[in-house]
Amino acid sequence: MIADAGPQGMFVAGGTDLYPNMNRRQQTPKTVITVMRLREMHAISGDEKSGMTIGAGVLLSEICEHRLLQALYPVVPLAAKTISTPLLRNMGTIGGNLLLDTRCNYYDQNYEWRKGINFCMKKDGDVCWVAPGSPKCWAVQSSDLAPVMVALGARFKFVSIDGDRIVEADQLYNNDGINYLNKRPNEMLTEIQLPPMNGKLATYQKLRRRGSFDFPVLGVAAAIDMSADGTIEKARIVLGGIAPAPIEVGEAETALTGQPFNADRIAEAAEACYLKARPLDNTDFVMGWRKQMARPFTIQALRALWLQSKSGTGI
Ligand SMILES: Cc1cc2nc3c(=O)[nH]c(=O)nc-3n(C[C@H](O)[C@H](O)[C@H](O)COP(=O)(O)OP(=O)(O)OC[C@H]3O[C@@H](n4cnc5c(N)ncnc54)[C@H](O)[C@@H]3O)c2cc1C
Ligand code: SF4
Repeated sequence: MIADAGPQGMFVAGGTDLYPNMNRRQQTPKTVITVMRLREMHAISGDEKSGMTIGAGVLLSEICEHRLLQALYPVVPLAAKTISTPLLRNMGTIGGNLLLDTRCNYYDQNYEWRKGINFCMKKDGDVCWVAPGSPKCWAVQSSDLAPVMVALGARFKFVSIDGDRIVEADQLYNNDGINYLNKRPNEMLTEIQLPPMNGKLATYQKLRRRGSFDFPVLGVAAAIDMSADGTIEKARIVLGGIAPAPIEVGEAETALTGQPFNADRIAEAAEACYLKARPLDNTDFVMGWRKQMARPFTIQALRALWLQSKSGTGI
């Protein structure tokens, strides 16, 4: 069906992102094909040893309540619970969340508002109001689960008439607000594959104005593997909500890897996240303050992991 629809076709799952965008004429497909009747895409399967697979059509509310996910990958329900509201989580799917359109104050407006500023480069215009000299769009990747999937090393399965493809989570997102996904329009996301945790500790911290409902304007996803002698064997620190793609902070990971898990290492990693975070003035809050917040939010995330490492449980 999507092949027949051509470039004017789009998939829809819960529609909580696509339909408001269509209302505002930001996305204007001629044909919309639902994936919600594909039963195979509603399953969650797997175990501790082999890892777990989540169908792309699984609702966010199902993820929040899933016992095995809570036990083996608590960071996934933790992040899913921060997404929007219970009503929207009852409609929105994990697949739709991971493929969310990028967001910007100059773009997420109704048609008349955007017309009033002569539109912008992302849709119908040719200038970027956030960075007028910029050749690219800086609209923000605002999925709460995207940075978590990158930190966990998840893989995504796409199928299309041209065949199947597995994409590593860190390879899916482009740092470009218009071409934000390394995905062809005819590809359908069918499943999310989570590798076994093997003792990995992971958490997610989210900055937003209200305690519920709001998109992240900064997210910190952190995952750490500890070795038997108490040093950090491997670390992945990923910032969300500040750029067109989730940003992995290699400098923070270097500050932690091979080191004891202590306050000095945490402070150094947090400093690296602060330096790497360069949000622009296109979401809620002042951009300088959002940058400042990268430091305490990273500390908060790593402290949570430190506590996990001591107790062996919790998030
Ligand atoms: C008021 C409000 C608040 C929100 N707050 C948050 C928030 O805090 N955090 C957050 O992360 N999100 C938030 N969202 C966004 C959205 O609700 C969720 O991300 C939701 O999970 C999107 O899922 P969906 O199934 O509704 O996606 P849809 O709208 O159906 O689809 C989203 C995109 O994915 C594509 N797509 C969907 N499924 C597939 C598939 N299987 N294969 C290929 N393409 C597919 C669609 O074509 C579309 O481009 C909010 C939305 C609203 C309206
Ligand atoms: S970052 Fe610039 S081009 Fe992109 S949506 Fe915002 S104003 Fe438009």
